[in-house]
Amino acid sequence: MADGTTVEPPKYFRRSQDKLAKLQQKASARKKGSRARKLLYRKVAKLHQKIARQRKQFHFELSKQLLTKYDAVFVEDLTVKNMVRRNKPKQDEDGNYLPNGQSAKSGLAKSILDCGWSQFLDILSLKAERAGLKVIKINPRGTSQVCFNCLNLVDKQLSDRWHCCYHCGVMMPRDWNSALLLKKLGLDETLSIKRSTASRKRSQHHIA
Ligand SMILES: [Zn+2]
Repeated sequence: MADGTTVEPPKYFRRSQDKLAKLQQKASARKKGSRARKLLYRKVAKLHQKIARQRKQFHFELSKQLLTKYDAVFVEDLTVKNMVRRNKPKQDEDGNYLPNGQSAKSGLAKSILDCGWSQFLDILSLKAERAGLKVIKINPRGTSQVCFNCLNLVDKQLSDRWHCCYHCGVMMPRDWNSALLLKKLGLDETLSIKRSTASRKRSQHHIA
């Protein structure tokens, strides 16, 4: 968030997820077609439902907290669908499957699904509307790559967790920079990271 804090899912949610992982392991270790395995998988399904309920509850609680504290909330309008799309399978001439980068992608896709960002946005928007408050969705393109302070481009890989601006010297965690940039873009509608001609003159590296 723009004040530098991060929001962690509640402990009960974590605990359920740990429990789920253990239960799934236990179930898959049982003999296929056995009654024990069937019963365990029934438990797994129930726990999945419980986790979905807990996630929703957390989204309601967080929405309430944010809207009590702030009059307007700026959020990234992530198109979750695009980010969780699976890579196409690759095959060689003999029909064997080749690495397609899916395993590397899975971790990210999974965490996005786990967070249920789009559900959270729906709940937050609905609650804000009822309270007469604002949720402003902002196109996140480039928000991780642009410095909130000077609006210059600072290239990062997904693994780079820090934003170190070599234009103005700002140093902070990556997500904090993105949050501050979102706030800046949201507060000033005339400002756009694409249209900032002043910084383009200063730097060749600029977002197009
Ligand atoms: Zn900067």
